[in-house]
This record gives sequence, structure tokens and C-alpha cells, in this order.
Amino acid sequence: MKERVLLHVCCAPDATVPWPALRNEGYEVDAFFYGSNIHPEGEWARRADALRMLSQRLGGKSEFAPYEPDAWFDATSGMEGEPEGGARCAACFGIQLAASAAYAASLGYGRLCTTLSISPHKSPELINSIGASVAKNAGIAWIERVWRKNDGFKLSIARSGEMGLYRQNYCGCAHSVRRFEPVSAL
Ligand code: SF4
Repeated sequence: MKERVLLHVCCAPDATVPWPALRNEGYEVDAFFYGSNIHPEGEWARRADALRMLSQRLGGKSEFAPYEPDAWFDATSGMEGEPEGGARCAACFGIQLAASAAYAASLGYGRLCTTLSISPHKSPELINSIGASVAKNAGIAWIERVWRKNDGFKLSIARSGEMGLYRQNYCGCAHSVRRFEPVSAL
């Protein structure tokens, strides 16, 4: 019987490489979307739909945490002005991965991994360090991977384009969307 892995998915395009790769390693893989960092709600819905589409294409299962943006805003309060890659993002990784670890442990998954390390804009060392810590606290194992290696990010762009998946142009939270949209549009 295959060992079950819960794959924390930050967005569907970023999962196009890790999900098949972990399967190729022999794991049974299900996806988990935390999503409460995503702003606004319509964007969350688009990303959730994209993950449903990817699940259908791959013949896999995706689970979705309830959308609770107020909890995310509370947990990152005081860090609004942090640059991307700073303390707010570290806290955000911790929130997303702790929720994923708790979900995995509650359903008997033995291992947890994340798609986050495919991004060229995020620190894989920080992501893997936080992931290992929250997994340990939840009593499960962490699968350390740096998915952006071997042109993983480029491959994810190609695969998501082939599949017609929605690909966003900002990381996800209200503070990152302001880099691309006027505040009045929020
Ligand atoms: S920029 Fe991305 S990683 Fe950083 S806090 Fe916002 S959603 Fe989270």
C-alpha cells in the first residue's frame, strides 16, 4: 500500500510539477489549499477553481480549508508594510503550513510537502525549515524539496499553459495585490 502524502498547494500552476513528481516517487498524493491569505474572495474562488480543474486533469483529490481571511489578517497584523520575502511572508508560510500539518495529522497522512518552493521569489530554505517544524509539532514527517531546481518553475509555466489553468499575477494577499492594482480597485 502506498504511503499517503498531503501536498500543501499555494496555487494550481505551482502544483503541476510537485504533484506528479511525488507520485512518481511512489506516494499517494492529495492536495490541500489553505487559501485564507488570498485576497479578494473572487480571486480565492478563481484559484480554487483552477485547483479543481488540475485535480480532474490529474485524477486526484483536493481538499479546501474554509475561507477565513479575517483570521489571516489578525495573524499578520502589524506586518502590513513588510516587503515581499520579509517577516509577513515567513508568518504566512507558517500559517499555511501549520494548517496543512494539522489537517494532515487529523486524517492520518504520514507526510506533508508543499508547492511553495517552486517559486523563484521565495526562500526554499525558510519554507523547508518552517515545514519541518510544523510537521514535527503535528507528529508527521516533512518531505523536503526544492521544486524550482532543474527549471521546475519554467516547467510549471509550460504545464499550466498546456492545461489552460488560471495563473495569477501576484502572490495572493491584499498587500501583494497592491503592487499590481490601484488600492481603489480592491
Ligand atoms: S506576499 Fe504571498 S507569501 Fe507574502 S504574505 Fe502575501 S500571500 Fe503570503
